[in-house]
Amino acid sequence: MPTSSDLRAAVRAIDGRDYGAYQDLRGTYAFDTFELEIAIVPKDPFAPPGTGVFRVRRRMDDLGLATADVADATRSRATRDFLCRRFHAAAQRLSGGVRGTGWSGLITVGEPGQAVLDRNAVVLDGDVVEVRAFVGLPGRGRRVQADLAETVLLGELPAIAASLPLDDDGRADLDHHLEVVEDARALRGQLVEHGLVAFVADGAVLPRRSGIDDRPLATGAVPVTSPASLQVTLEAPHAGPIPGMGIPAGVTVIVGGGYHGKSTLLTALATGVHDHVPGDGRERAVSRPGAMVVRAAPGRPVAGVDIAAFIKGLPDGRDTTRFTTANASGSTSQAAAISEAIEGGCDLLLIDEDSSATNLLVRDARMQRLVEREDEPITVLLDRVRALHDDLGVSTVLVMGGSGDYLDVADHVIQLTRYAPSDVTEAARGVARALPTERRPEAVDASGAPRDRHPVGASIRTRNEHGKRSVRPLATDRLLLGGVEVDLRDVADTLHERAQAHTLALALEALAERLTRGGTALRAAVEQLLGEVAADGLDVLDRDGRGVLAEVRALDLAAALNRVRGLEVR
Ligand code: ADP
Ligand code: MG
Repeated sequence: MPTSSDLRAAVRAIDGRDYGAYQDLRGTYAFDTFELEIAIVPKDPFAPPGTGVFRVRRRMDDLGLATADVADATRSRATRDFLCRRFHAAAQRLSGGVRGTGWSGLITVGEPGQAVLDRNAVVLDGDVVEVRAFVGLPGRGRRVQADLAETVLLGELPAIAASLPLDDDGRADLDHHLEVVEDARALRGQLVEHGLVAFVADGAVLPRRSGIDDRPLATGAVPVTSPASLQVTLEAPHAGPIPGMGIPAGVTVIVGGGYHGKSTLLTALATGVHDHVPGDGRERAVSRPGAMVVRAAPGRPVAGVDIAAFIKGLPDGRDTTRFTTANASGSTSQAAAISEAIEGGCDLLLIDEDSSATNLLVRDARMQRLVEREDEPITVLLDRVRALHDDLGVSTVLVMGGSGDYLDVADHVIQLTRYAPSDVTEAARGVARALPTERRPEAVDASGAPRDRHPVGASIRTRNEHGKRSVRPLATDRLLLGGVEVDLRDVADTLHERAQAHTLALALEALAERLTRGGTALRAAVEQLLGEVAADGLDVLDRDGRGVLAEVRALDLAAALNRVRGLEVR
């Protein structure tokens, strides 16, 4: 195998030549302590991270890792997540960053967010760990800049690789990382037996630094203290008994004044489907894996969704058991989001008045008097939310500071006062008795489960109008498919990194190829594909092993598919 000296010679030999000469470097080189495979070389210095692939391989025991660190799927995921963070931090510290044209000089892996995720930036092959990084091979314009390439490939990259082995502190950090993740999994695993949909441990810190910074609020955060009546103690394998606030299955309404922390709590329930890194503040805030935020997203497309439980008898006479539109209204978009979530297997709906269509949530006594029932196509959530739980097993947590009508249907009412939760269920019952609303329930028929849909693969276009493949992430919550944007902003609570949007893009492409006959139900198709990914790794979707993907849930992939413009279903 050629060595690092051979690589140095090869770099020097192409100095000043056209950028394409970098292709000659492809191959595998033995360094002192690791192996470097230059697998895919970008075509020009402007090709962004993700286009070039450099694989650094090192044996597990050289890194200070034991087989116990990767003994099962949870530990392997957490350990690889840890190594990815370690590489990312080392690259920030030890690489000089962008120098020269385009991405020249950059060494990086996709930046990990606050969630511990399975990602293929770090994979295991037997007892060898492989880190897949991007290196921006330096160019002066389109000319090879060999001196800088030598610095990057033979100075900085080896320095980063040399910093990966765990010293005592690193070992302790990894142990803590593993314990926090195993504890979170264990807490989540106890929800069902305790009749809970979510659990937020005492001491959890929920607010974030800013709307664009997912790290914990640095100063002034009020930690969670559970009200006595909702307090549950769950068992964590490492940290022991953990007291906290249990949110029971059923219908829970979160009330409280504006700016008192309602939406922050609801968002934490959404992100509780994932594990969080130590220090995040939400390490012990866990939810059922099937939780989903459903919002109004006017303008989104809807493909043949059964929204009849909520909307029936539209003025244009349209069939709402197969509702299709390229431009949904607020209420139809949110009704579709609820039906799609249930169809996809969601068992916990998270709804915030801030991002809802008011007319889907409430219709009060006065409006019932003014507008005849037969002139109102909408059956509001207020009249459906009980049956969603009692008939379909789907719980709801609803933030509702603006209408007291929900007090009639809530199993539990939690009030937030200056960020502190209290259980006001009894007080709410008293208010409901003292001030009856005269509102009449309006759901006359039962609302069964939404009808299954069968997507037609050919309607998922992956090529743009010029016939060119167009499948890529644009941001954490948006992607490009067939030249058309897929907007995921209304379901992005469980999307933390661009790598997840990348996975969604490639998974949609895979579905386009698979669903040729339109004979598979949407949920089954999505779960089957992601089942293969869970079993065999994200490389199932990333066949060149570029290391740019992170895990997504079946519910998230279903949500993405549902937002593809032009989707046809049977
Ligand atoms: P609401 O939905 O009740 O109007 P938000 O959840 O949007 O309120 O919170 C309002 C502000 O308070 C946000 O800036 C949020 O980050 C902050 N906040 C929320 N919870 C806490 C807390 N526990 N401690 C400190 N600040 C908080
Ligand atoms: Mg709010």
